[in-house]
Amino acid sequence: MADTATASTLTLPVDDALLVRLHGTACITCGTTTGPLYGAGHVYTAVAAGQDGCLGWAVVACPEHLAAA
Ligand SMILES: [Zn+2]
Repeated sequence: MADTATASTLTLPVDDALLVRLHGTACITCGTTTGPLYGAGHVYTAVAAGQDGCLGWAVVACPEHLAAA
């Protein structure tokens, strides 16, 4: 069983603004799409509402939020 205790798992459904961030086209923290964006690891969501398991999303962050992501 995967240890997800330290990973944040987002609850479904997510709104469009969050989906853009999960797709890695906007900073995961503030949502900016301008400036350099850097890989910031993964965020997890449930596979589907009410189901076990999680999906990992490779997300990005702006320089300001890179350390916090
Ligand atoms: Zn940011």
